[in-house]
Amino acid sequence: GSMLNVTSVTKRYSGQDTDAVAGVSFVAVPGEFVALMGPSGCGKSTLLHLCGAMDRPDRGQILLGDTNLARLGDDQLTLVRRQRIGFVFQFFNLLPTLTLVENVALPLLLAGASPAEATRRARSLGDRVGLASRLDAYPAQVSGGEMQRAAIARAIVHSPALLIADEPTGNLDSGNGARVLELLVELNASLRLTILLATHASDIAAAAHRTLHMRDGQFA
Ligand code: ADP
Ligand code: ADP
Repeated sequence: GSMLNVTSVTKRYSGQDTDAVAGVSFVAVPGEFVALMGPSGCGKSTLLHLCGAMDRPDRGQILLGDTNLARLGDDQLTLVRRQRIGFVFQFFNLLPTLTLVENVALPLLLAGASPAEATRRARSLGDRVGLASRLDAYPAQVSGGEMQRAAIARAIVHSPALLIADEPTGNLDSGNGARVLELLVELNASLRLTILLATHASDIAAAAHRTLHMRDGQFA
């Protein structure tokens, strides 16, 4: 079966006179690492938001496993996001008042895990992504690469089926960007984590199993 099966999906923002995503179809199988490439404004983020249950399409179907995200109400979309999807963003989006390990543990606490269990798992995953000595630091005290490692750990701590990454190396220098990419490749292979990643950079896309090129809301 497919992890993600997107059929004829269209999305237009209110007040706009063109579709941000215009009749897009693709399939991602479990464990696949798919890159979306294309210029700024071509619709990558919009497609990621739709596949990540952050927004609904105007038309078309988005199957995450057997669930059609296009048909879900807001509460059900929120549940899908919390339970089955992880997000990584360009600007990390860590909470500045929490330490790295507290940021990583947060999704588990929100899902009802005990603080002890959430902290144990967050430390274990933090070690795994290479943050061992930095886990008790605050985001402002660590490098961009370390912040993104923490954000990746936070995104996968609840074992999501799908990881959505929007320009995850876009705010990192090339060395840190390469190391974050290496981490995503390693997690994809070892956890069979399905990854959908948007990037402007062809060297980042080259690490994926497959690259979909977008232009004006469609695949080129
Ligand atoms: P990127 O090109 O890095 O993916 P953008 O600069 O296109 O990001 O968009 C950044 C954020 O601003 C996104 O969350 C997007 O949804 C929002 N955005 C982009 N264009 C508009 C717009 N015309 N009106 C309102 N929000 C927008
Ligand atoms: P990309 O991620 O490839 O930069 P986006 O998906 O952010 O592209 O944007 C696709 C198109 O939709 C652009 O024309 C952008 O300006 C527009 N857009 C994105 N978000 C919004 C929004 N919230 N409101 C209105 N227009 C938006």
